[in-house]
Amino acid sequence: MVGAADSSGSRILLRKLRDLMNVGGSAQERLDKLVSMVAATMVADVCSIYLTRGAFHELFATEGLKPEAVHRTRLRMNEGLVGLVAESTTHLNLADAPHHERFSYRPETGEDPYSSFLGVPIVRSERTFGVLVVQNRVQRLYTDDEVEALQTVAMVLAEMVASGAFGDLSGLAEVEARASKPELLIGRAFSDGVVIGTAVLHEPHAPLGRVIADDPIKEELRLDAALAQVRGALKEMLDGDPGRISGVSRDVLETFLMLASDPSWEGKLKQGVRAGLSADAAVERSRGEHRAKFNASRDPYLRERLHDLEDLDNRLLRALAGVDSTRPVALPRDAVLVARELGPAELLDYGADRLKGVVLEEGGATAHAAIVARALGVPMVGDVHGLLSRVEGGDALVLDGERGEVRLRPEPQVLSAYKQRIALRSERAAAFARLRNKPAITKDGERVSLLLNAGLALDVHHLEEAGAEGIGLFRTEFQFMVSETLPRLNAQTALYRDVLEAAHDRPVTFRTLDLGGDKMLPYMAAEREENPALGWRAVRIGLDRPALLRYQLRALISAAAGRSLRVMFPLVTTVAEFDAARALVDRELHWSAEHGRKPPSRIEVGVMVEAPALAWCIPDLCGKADFLSIGTNDLMQYFFAADRSNARVADRYDILSAPALRFLRRIRDDAADANIQVSICGEAAGRPLEAIAFVALGFRRLSMPASGIGPVKRAILSLDAAAAAEALEQMLRADGASVRSELTEFASEMNLPL
Ligand code: PEP
Ligand code: MG
Repeated sequence: MVGAADSSGSRILLRKLRDLMNVGGSAQERLDKLVSMVAATMVADVCSIYLTRGAFHELFATEGLKPEAVHRTRLRMNEGLVGLVAESTTHLNLADAPHHERFSYRPETGEDPYSSFLGVPIVRSERTFGVLVVQNRVQRLYTDDEVEALQTVAMVLAEMVASGAFGDLSGLAEVEARASKPELLIGRAFSDGVVIGTAVLHEPHAPLGRVIADDPIKEELRLDAALAQVRGALKEMLDGDPGRISGVSRDVLETFLMLASDPSWEGKLKQGVRAGLSADAAVERSRGEHRAKFNASRDPYLRERLHDLEDLDNRLLRALAGVDSTRPVALPRDAVLVARELGPAELLDYGADRLKGVVLEEGGATAHAAIVARALGVPMVGDVHGLLSRVEGGDALVLDGERGEVRLRPEPQVLSAYKQRIALRSERAAAFARLRNKPAITKDGERVSLLLNAGLALDVHHLEEAGAEGIGLFRTEFQFMVSETLPRLNAQTALYRDVLEAAHDRPVTFRTLDLGGDKMLPYMAAEREENPALGWRAVRIGLDRPALLRYQLRALISAAAGRSLRVMFPLVTTVAEFDAARALVDRELHWSAEHGRKPPSRIEVGVMVEAPALAWCIPDLCGKADFLSIGTNDLMQYFFAADRSNARVADRYDILSAPALRFLRRIRDDAADANIQVSICGEAAGRPLEAIAFVALGFRRLSMPASGIGPVKRAILSLDAAAAAEALEQMLRADGASVRSELTEFASEMNLPL
């Protein structure tokens, strides 16, 4: 295998490949030539191409194995070493392959004399087309250069398959056709709504164009220029106007810049270019490797670094393609954004008017991008495994944010069924609109206040539209997250005044800044924390850096001049923290009086119950807190020790289970004993079944996203609260399991619309 032991080996291979592309012949003949050429150049006894066809990896061409095995040997998806390479999308280098646990012997191939095995996946844009293999009789491990040479061939091969260079090869059409087949992808519903639209990739892969370069020197210059552009842009973002880097915190950028300046990354790219790859192809190869390592790694730190590296590869690809990533892309009018992950600020950057929907490969339903999507009324489906490997920019798709499904490239019948569903949904929305001015009173006369969760000025119109009694939770941090720089006192005051004015006489509860955790500001330096959800966030930051919190309180007090003001603090854990926060309110009231400002007509100071420790302090808050609001998103993540934004665990535990409901009942009872008003403002309050449970537990104030108000009101109007309380009481006597199915049964017996 001497021929490929340095980058000149890759160069020879690439040159021969190019020649091969230029000769005529059938697709099969060209594949046959390709395997002979690779085997000869790499001094391998065997070179085989397996292509994925239907549910099998089929041997399409071989040099060294028995020719009669071609098109006869078909390995199941997870069968053998070939299956392992395809599944892991990473190379496999073995000196003693027959003793590997995944080795599968197929006698028809005559494979027995070969000990060493090197397999690399044939992938393009995260789609695996098959596996390219070389084998040798002698027991040896292939060198890094050999691995790289074979990966390069696989890459060119993937490009040739995708571009139809083997056009008439039977079966390959099927491989290519996968991209145009309809597919149903199951994820989770993050934000309600059903839309038909066109896929737009958040991070589009630059078109790969040519893989093999004509002039390596010119390619290296292109690569140098693109590297300089990416590094320059990162430096500019760090040094210049920090507002332009919304969504990416400073330390992330610093890490990016460090990685972008890493000589080993550059060296690897240059090696590819010097071997004859185009600059784009060299970067694409690096991206593929980072992706494969990312998929294989379980270490969160390493995964984050690899994610950063992949992001850099993407930036570099865009620079090579001449795409300016700082300018907003032109979107089609029915754009459905497709991304791996999306920060709340990134979603806001796109804006509700430019997006019909969002689909994410990852994410948890209570992560802030999902909350922002709900606030904006943009339907969202998340946690869709394999999304990015199946969707192409420009694909037609149906996003079903009610069921948590995505239908790619739907057939006409599916489309027309969805059109009907969309029409039905708008009828239902019209029915909810008719309930708009009706108070939510149960059949047995219990009045329930339904309030709105909001965070942006544009949310406030939902008050009228949905028929909410007020804003139960105004997330003030959203203004900070959408801003390019720290909002100044005047901007904060103006927003709060606008919100109070738009709400007319309806009460608004402002929550002070809830930053940290997953809500990072690009313009505020923050230390990386091992456990951000348990870290320096919310009121903890406010108390340690009181200037920011005092400014905000000052803005709230002056915005509410002559009006009633309700303020609450997030993630308070001890009574002492609440006392300290409340003292800041008093201090600002004093400041305002000293400066001759008109004070609010009334001021109520409340606290969010999100930390379980505070839930056990309610008697101690008697006479101190004017109201409590239970943030079930956080309270439940701490109660069940399950990260709300980690899709693997976020929905693992049910809020409708006895331990959670008993806990909530206890909070409600303690609040009643302490004579403190209590509400629930987590996302759960906006789901009819959960809302029924909360009313049954005795809660009479629920705050929720706008989309929940109609359905929850409809359920409450048909509810007998006393009967529900009794039924739930029975259910909670049982073991700690979920009562969801019993409660659903109760709802159906009572004819409650869910
Ligand atoms: C909560 O934790 O339930 C809550 C309402 O606050 P946020 O979702 O903004 O953290
Ligand atoms: Mg919270």
